[in-house]
Amino acid sequence: MAVIALCDVNAMFASCAALEDPSLRGKPLLVAGDPGDRRSIVLTASYEARAFGVRTAMPVAMALRLCPGASIVAPDHDLYRRYSRRLFDCLQEFTPIVAPVSIDEAFLDLTGCPGISAGPQALGEQIRARVLSAIGLTVCVGLAPGRWLAKMAADLAKRREGGVLHLLGEDMPREIWPLPVEAFYGVGPKTAERLHALGIRTIGEIAQSDAIARLGHHGEELRRLAQGEDPSRVEAEGAAKSVSHELTFGSDIARPEELRGVLLSLCDQVAYRLRRSGLRAGSVTLRLRSSRFQTFTRQAPLPAPAQRADALFARALELLPRMPKAAFPARLAGIAAGALSEASADAPSLFPDPETERRERLADAVTALRARYGEAAVLPAETLGSAAEESYDRRRHGTSFGKPGRRQEPRDEP
Ligand SMILES: [Mg+2]
Repeated sequence: MAVIALCDVNAMFASCAALEDPSLRGKPLLVAGDPGDRRSIVLTASYEARAFGVRTAMPVAMALRLCPGASIVAPDHDLYRRYSRRLFDCLQEFTPIVAPVSIDEAFLDLTGCPGISAGPQALGEQIRARVLSAIGLTVCVGLAPGRWLAKMAADLAKRREGGVLHLLGEDMPREIWPLPVEAFYGVGPKTAERLHALGIRTIGEIAQSDAIARLGHHGEELRRLAQGEDPSRVEAEGAAKSVSHELTFGSDIARPEELRGVLLSLCDQVAYRLRRSGLRAGSVTLRLRSSRFQTFTRQAPLPAPAQRADALFARALELLPRMPKAAFPARLAGIAAGALSEASADAPSLFPDPETERRERLADAVTALRARYGEAAVLPAETLGSAAEESYDRRRHGTSFGKPGRRQEPRDEP
């Protein structure tokens, strides 16, 4: 049977700060956007601060009323990225199939890996001990036959002594069924509302109620998951697969704000290839090459695996201000989608809210039009007049797009 694990670092930001500065260890610690500003919000609190009732997203002033002795530090994303790389390297000692979900979280496929002979629970405990001794970070580990349930197991593990939980189909009635539907991974407020309207309030009722059939295909999928059947698997990041697209400009681009249209176009083209390949991206990388041929890259995980251009573009726009001044004037821009997973197996595709559903349908329609009439048949309005507009026309610019009217498999760059 497959063994999938989700490893999630506890209080990542606060833990990294305490590892760097021993004087902060074992003490209440807040990471806040602007430590000098009491209206600023708590991004993470150490467990010592949480014991006082401090929670994420609480204003600093309120946190200090609950826990007057807390130290406050500013976030340091370079630091978190360094620890994140060490974490993923450490996890790869156990299996080559590690798929980062965010900076402090990754799915592992432990099926058939050498350590599994000890049993999933024991291997989960080994992973936790290894990450703690090698890096100093505490992770909770949820193990299950699939990703979906591994996520549920990790949520339970977080609240258990020992921080490791192996969840099997037969454990579902005891561990998961009493929980409200809102606690089910992938069930958002809209779906919860639809379930409530059917009289379904707990995950156990999803598993057992006949009414779930009224939600059609999605209802069936959710019912099977609630019954403990989880076919979702993990795709290795180690395969280093990415889908990317880049463009060299006719004349250098001097200012970041002039790149908007170009980035949208690149994201649009990458998204189109993801969609045709049935893949979703877990991260976005922005690459710029300056007129002096220096190359700069910035990368960020996506909040959820994504396939649509608007999700990639939103992240790319956040990466742009993180580029150094030396990246301009820019002669080339590139967008790469990484941490790829199969679209069908991803939780967020289930029960999308109406706006997501609308965007998905639109993206499907655009994909169909392009497959038939060529990539330039439909263009995002904002790319018009940008340096990227002509990149859709392969006859002029040799992009990796197929010729109009003919399908071509996307070429993935290593
Ligand atoms: Mg975490």
